[in-house]
Amino acid sequence: MKLRFWGTRGSIATPGPTTNRFGGNTSCVELVTKSGRRFIFDCGTGVRLLGMHMMANAPKPIEATILITHTHWDHIQGFPFFAPVFVPGGRFTVCGPSGTHDSLPDTLSGQMEYTYFPVRLGDLGAWIEYKELPEGDHTLGDVRVITQMLNHPANTLGYRIEADGVSVMYVCDHEPYWEGLWRADVAPGHLDSILHAGDRRHAEFLLNADVVIHDSQYTPEEYPSKKNWGHSTYRYVTEIAAAAKVKHLFLTHHDPAHDDAFLSRMEEQARAIAQASGSGLQVSCAYEGCEMTIEGDGSGHAPADQFRAGATLSNRQHLILIADDDEDLRILVRKTLTRGGNLILEAAGGHQAMELIKSRNPDLVLLDLLMPSPSGFEVLRWIRETAESRDIPVVVLTAQGDEVSVRTCFELGATDYLVKPFTAPQLDVRVRSSLARARR
Ligand SMILES: [Zn+2]
Ligand SMILES: [Zn+2]
Repeated sequence: MKLRFWGTRGSIATPGPTTNRFGGNTSCVELVTKSGRRFIFDCGTGVRLLGMHMMANAPKPIEATILITHTHWDHIQGFPFFAPVFVPGGRFTVCGPSGTHDSLPDTLSGQMEYTYFPVRLGDLGAWIEYKELPEGDHTLGDVRVITQMLNHPANTLGYRIEADGVSVMYVCDHEPYWEGLWRADVAPGHLDSILHAGDRRHAEFLLNADVVIHDSQYTPEEYPSKKNWGHSTYRYVTEIAAAAKVKHLFLTHHDPAHDDAFLSRMEEQARAIAQASGSGLQVSCAYEGCEMTIEGDGSGHAPADQFRAGATLSNRQHLILIADDDEDLRILVRKTLTRGGNLILEAAGGHQAMELIKSRNPDLVLLDLLMPSPSGFEVLRWIRETAESRDIPVVVLTAQGDEVSVRTCFELGATDYLVKPFTAPQLDVRVRSSLARARR
């Protein structure tokens, strides 16, 4: 497979003399298989240059599969400037995450209304098909495409492409579920020592990949003031890629405030972490124009049964119980989740929560830990020990940010663990992911 970076910047394009080396265009990566099938990851401003390149060099009529991670601006803003979609005869399949409040074509056409752009989406010359992909294992032509929902305050898919004996992954945008990553009571560096179940699932997604292109917008020093914005640090990405036995990691989605000199230092620091891990992981900062031919022997392909198919994020109405003694928190949850059409039950303590679970059988429980007796820990244990409620997804929502509480909750069978304060879109995505996975 052939890989080429056309946009490596996150958030907003930053052209200029201080970003010449790593590039100023936003997210766009091209992947071409040996059989000539072309994939385009994201349509940030970099896709304009790719479009010009394809007009001059690609076989006609031009065909490609466009894999959109999510519809934040830096991942779609170049789409109206991608020249091949204006040419009659061209064929494009545009894929993106399922279950967003607006459909993929609705969102793309929103940024092409006459207020913003002179040509409507429906007036483009090429034939364009839209596919909303659930989390799981898919086949597109002769290529395996595995998708997984990421931790970002918007419905976001990571992609794992397997073809030609090689696996290449594109993982933007993603934030650690637990920044420290490791549990303190087990030696770090392997999957069993990852504390949060979300990070472990992420590492399993990356496992043995030949190439991983990953959001690493921040330094560990910057992260505390950027928490909940949905991005990783180079340290988290390098450590988790090393533990997952990834062969080559590309750091990307560079912060607009990081100039070339800053990114070179980040690359050195990430390489030092990779070297210290002893895993053999290679690390590079992605730069615009970077090209690579990837050869493999299939050892990086995931086992056929590793990724279950079909967790569709749906907009159907769910019954959700919020158990928390903090009334303000219950109001925030109700406001956030009723917007998506859900019905909300409220409990101010453990006893009331257990009564409501027995009588109303909710689709999901949001559970505080430090409630009046019985505590959230005891309620969680009871949910998992009771036949009728054993399979209900339980998302812990708590101020308890200590490692022992996280570990205890996952041992008791929590589905997810979210530390307060969190943002409304984060809560929405985490609840929808948990509901989708529970239905498989
Ligand atoms: Zn982004
Ligand atoms: Zn984003």
